[in-house]
Amino acid sequence: MIVGVHPLAGFDKLLHYRVPESRQGEVHVGSLVRVPIVNRMHLGIVGEIGAPKDFPIEKLKTVAQVVYPFPAFPADLLQLARWMAAYYACGLDVVIETMLPAAVRHGAGLKHEKWLTVHQKLSAEELEKLTKRAPQQAKLYRFLEQQFRPQQKSLVLSRLGLGAAVAAALTKRGAIREEIRRVERVAYADEWDTGEIVAGVPPALNAEQRAAVVALGEALKCEKFEVKLLHGVTGSGKTEVYLHAIHDAIEAGGSVIFLVPEVALTPQTVARLRGRLQAIAPGMKTVVWHSHLSEGERFDGWLALATGEARVVVGARSAVFAPVRNLRLIVVDEEHEPAYKQDETPRYHGRDVAVMRAKLANSLCLLGSATPSLESYSNALSGKYQLLQLPQRVDARKLPDIDVVDMRIEVARSRGLTTLSRQLVNAMQARFERREQTILFINRRGYSSSMLCSECGHIEECPHCSIAMTYHRTDETLRCHLCGSERPAPAVCPKCRSVKIRWRGLGTQRVEEAVKRVLPRARIERMDTDTMSKKNRFRQVLSEFRAGKIDVLVGTQMIGKGLDFPNVTLVGLVDADISMHVPDFRANERTFQLLVQVAGRAGRGDRAGEVVVQTFTPQAEAIQFSRHADFIGFSENELKIRRDFKYPPFRHLIHHLFRGPNPEKLAFFAEQWARRVEKDLGDRVELRGPVPSPIEKIKDEYRYQLWYFTPQVTKVVAELAKLRAEFAWPEDIVQVLDVDPVNLT
Ligand code: ADP
Ligand code: ZN
Ligand code: ZN
Repeated sequence: MIVGVHPLAGFDKLLHYRVPESRQGEVHVGSLVRVPIVNRMHLGIVGEIGAPKDFPIEKLKTVAQVVYPFPAFPADLLQLARWMAAYYACGLDVVIETMLPAAVRHGAGLKHEKWLTVHQKLSAEELEKLTKRAPQQAKLYRFLEQQFRPQQKSLVLSRLGLGAAVAAALTKRGAIREEIRRVERVAYADEWDTGEIVAGVPPALNAEQRAAVVALGEALKCEKFEVKLLHGVTGSGKTEVYLHAIHDAIEAGGSVIFLVPEVALTPQTVARLRGRLQAIAPGMKTVVWHSHLSEGERFDGWLALATGEARVVVGARSAVFAPVRNLRLIVVDEEHEPAYKQDETPRYHGRDVAVMRAKLANSLCLLGSATPSLESYSNALSGKYQLLQLPQRVDARKLPDIDVVDMRIEVARSRGLTTLSRQLVNAMQARFERREQTILFINRRGYSSSMLCSECGHIEECPHCSIAMTYHRTDETLRCHLCGSERPAPAVCPKCRSVKIRWRGLGTQRVEEAVKRVLPRARIERMDTDTMSKKNRFRQVLSEFRAGKIDVLVGTQMIGKGLDFPNVTLVGLVDADISMHVPDFRANERTFQLLVQVAGRAGRGDRAGEVVVQTFTPQAEAIQFSRHADFIGFSENELKIRRDFKYPPFRHLIHHLFRGPNPEKLAFFAEQWARRVEKDLGDRVELRGPVPSPIEKIKDEYRYQLWYFTPQVTKVVAELAKLRAEFAWPEDIVQVLDVDPVNLT
């Protein structure tokens, strides 16, 4: 038997090897093997079975090891890897390395441990004798005798303060025995995943939910590729629909991948899912896949999926590569989330990859959101995807309207900068008196943003990155959020020595302080990436908030997703403008999404909710359409703009970044390259740039960028990749292609 192997060895080529007679039954397309290349062993994936056309068979080397006796890469995953390598213009080996967890590649392996258990019971007499002659052995025996199950040897010995010789002697005596068992490192002990199961009777579906569930059930029965877009307002019971579809797919014997933007925010969903599946597949594991897993946990989860022992995985972006067998359904919750895009090579979009994987596996892909991306929504409008809609909240509760406060008037009235408008303060005070809860959102982290001299206008920038540094009040420092450099905050302007320094912008801390002033007796908590760096804090704050021990929660968007707090009746967005003033054609879309998601957090219980949004540009369309969560209106308006400017989804966008130490040289080669592309691909591609990047310099490297707009992305990426390989690049220029970028800054 001869196989073609894609080695993980830093290049992209199929190499052929013989498989020894004795191992032939274990080798399939998708098997993980170890093969010799020159004088070293490398991992590789079997890509095909069959001899090479242009290489003498006698000279082939032999596969050294078959790492797992089952395909580590199901066939659909290997095809997906090939598609990704072509679509995102990167090497197949890089894609395979991304798909295969490091724990699997580096052989965190199966963890085996020695366990101890009583073998032959000692009589009371014998035990007494043993106590006299060998008290330590007696101690170990007594301990083990009281246990129902075998005990892990290392733990028992250290707990009892005994050495390995004691266990050995007692084993020799025949009183106990040692056995080797696999230790499972299921992520239960982890703070994001308590292993909790919510059983109970699921709610009766309303008519729209039922219609969606029926449509999904029929699609699942067909076992062919289809994409459904579930557009449901916040609180319309989308998760309930997902759970039904997942249930159906599992019951039919299939596997399911459930993608969420951030697993840390979905412990309740996981618990609900476990409860549902228990009824049809008792004891079946639900693998939770997130960035806080240890290598061992990751390996065990991966193994359970690859062997078919587990058939459901809930996870962030990379769970789309789970090695499940017989994939029937992929759910992508909050499909509009930019978090699905990976910002390092391969720069793939988890949602788009999910759609492609479903296609290759002939399965169903379900995208869900209250504010679908315009990409997905226009696919639904054109009939490429089928649209399912949940236009109402469950129990027909009313969606809260959004009160827009014009901060220009507020500021003029108060003759200075205000953090909280009077309207927001009044609403908060009323909530506090009624013992209801408030969430205040702000758009960014830190105490405030840059330092600005109100005398000379100087803004302090990072010397390496040319972006404004951020002021952190807790330790009086200025920090660069890109390269991490920091220094003490100056007391006078470094340029003109003036003392009139203003700390511009709003941060969670500043908002927290403003709330303290107007609600001195309230309990206030702040939640942002700074305060939440300790992992347990996050869960703790959320559970205290849920228990009603916190009156006001102040935080960044991270608290805006997926959480369901029935006692929150007021939500405030302190600075709606920030996301609108980002230089990005998606700024409106992001603002609309933010406002609708934020509003969805209010009034989830049986009380009506109120939403207050503060802005300096109240007339903006993103804000006006969000007042009534009018997604249809917003998307019609926004799609018109996108069409006029031929922005995505009407064309694809590709970003090309050039980096190097010498700015003149960089500009020159970027220019030369652009001319070359214009000449060869000018009829298919519209170029913008090259220009210096918004951040011109990071870590002493200069950056230039070029944008390509094209309706034929697959073809153009292939041609760009080919051209790029032929072009004579100097060694010190690094370039990165990003296909379908989600952020333009
Ligand atoms: P979404 O994902 O659309 O924001 P969820 O599925 O989380 O909404 O549902 C919001 C809340 O309503 C949850 O607590 C859920 O248990 C409950 N719920 C969902 N469907 C129904 C229903 N048909 N009847 C009553 N309650 C429901
Ligand atoms: Zn100054
Ligand atoms: Zn920096």
